[in-house]
Amino acid sequence: MDLKRTDLFRTKSYINGTWIEAKNKNTLAVNNPYNGAHLADVSDCGVNEVTEAIDAASDAFEIWKKYSAGKRAKILKKWHQLQMQHAEDLALILTTEQGKPLAEALGEIKYGASFVEWFAEEARRIYGDTIPGHASSIRIVTIKQPVGVVAAITPWNFPSAMITRKVAPALAAGCTVVIKPSELTPLSALALGVLAEEAGFPPGVINIVVSSDAPAIGETMCASPKVRKLSFTGSTRVGKILLKQSADTVKKVSLELGGNAPFIVFDDADIDEAVKGAIASKFRNAGQTCVCSNRLFVQDSIYDEFVQKYTEAVKQQSIGSGLDAGTVIGPMIEEKAVQFVESVVADATSKGAKLMSGGRRHEAKDGTLLYEPTVLCDVNTDMDVFKKEIFGPVAPVFKFSTEEEVIALANNTEYGLASYFYGRDYARIWRVAEALEYGMVGINTGMISTAVAPFGGIKQSGFGREGSKYGMDDYLEIKYMCWGGVK
Ligand code: ADP
Repeated sequence: MDLKRTDLFRTKSYINGTWIEAKNKNTLAVNNPYNGAHLADVSDCGVNEVTEAIDAASDAFEIWKKYSAGKRAKILKKWHQLQMQHAEDLALILTTEQGKPLAEALGEIKYGASFVEWFAEEARRIYGDTIPGHASSIRIVTIKQPVGVVAAITPWNFPSAMITRKVAPALAAGCTVVIKPSELTPLSALALGVLAEEAGFPPGVINIVVSSDAPAIGETMCASPKVRKLSFTGSTRVGKILLKQSADTVKKVSLELGGNAPFIVFDDADIDEAVKGAIASKFRNAGQTCVCSNRLFVQDSIYDEFVQKYTEAVKQQSIGSGLDAGTVIGPMIEEKAVQFVESVVADATSKGAKLMSGGRRHEAKDGTLLYEPTVLCDVNTDMDVFKKEIFGPVAPVFKFSTEEEVIALANNTEYGLASYFYGRDYARIWRVAEALEYGMVGINTGMISTAVAPFGGIKQSGFGREGSKYGMDDYLEIKYMCWGGVK
């Protein structure tokens, strides 16, 4: 890897300000998903190391929480500045271990850094209230205080931004953190650790523990009374395990889980814009984001025109190595992800769906995890593509006739993360936006993620919000003081 700063490439975990190997010297291999090339053997930690990290974070909390908001903000700003300064190196590490096109990786690094900047600014605005007392001698004041040690478990699809999105508000609030990145993409996390150390966070404030034994790490984090908050982004299956495990210590929990996003195109939409939005929201990261549109619903009078234009646009998406200029769809993360996509496409076609493009692995010399961008039409609600989160570059296009029908279809899922629709009638825009049972609604846009807005879901997509003025609340406790005897 041709890095300007070679020291960003780390293979040890970062605990209490020290880069450590696993005590038993175990390592785990990190590979490039594009060609399977071996990238690194990273120290593979376990329960002992994560316990050490929790202890370190707990000790450091006593120091960090007493820093003034301005002092915390200054270190966070420095971290942000370093991430921007070394964005190209961070993006190269990200693409190499994760596969997404370099331009997208650079976008992720800047997006991730924007959370650090935003929460550095918000650190100074953790305001309380004064409340008129319930008696003439009473005065009431609220303050907000950091919850304490935060455990963050993050996924491979955004190896950098899912960390900063949790860690920046936690640190700004005065919490300390123990991060367990995905074992598939630990290098981006460790590179952020190098820059955090350089930014000047005291030892123990940020800890990064890499492990191939995620269940053991998760259990230890959940069982520890020192960990006061768990923030998780990943599958609904694992989110449920962590929520159950957090019950015994009555931990605060935020969960950002799976989605099954509808993307609705009404007959008065600008079809060309809707096609662009549907491309952006479906194929980013090869379809491997929790806000990717999963089910496209197009009104019957424009269905054929939309499918034709969309299929043409999908066929233009070039697929290959994320490091090649011009690639817009990189490899999927691992073999079982490709097999899952193959299974949902086979299910759909066996039940009568028509393949408009793709529908198979790309036959590249050295890229077996490349799956061709795929459009399916004549799909119906009995198919897996309606019910399951596809998490791959496959777009099923459903036909609907009325607003009422499409709202019912869109809401017919246990998930409630992102949703999208295109149309112009302003009354319908309000009706539909209010009727969609989702935490986020993109209206005439396929891109909704930004540090300034509250990202999060409802139903089995989880709870808690990341980003925006609301994002800090997840890391704060409200304390109220009742002052009596004011005569
Ligand atoms: P995905 O399907 O996106 O890989 P996962 O939920 O499997 O989602 O993984 C997200 C994160 O959760 C990763 O860091 C992974 O190591 C971790 N993880 C997986 N299983 C568990 C578990 N039982 N307890 C705690 N963390 C887990």
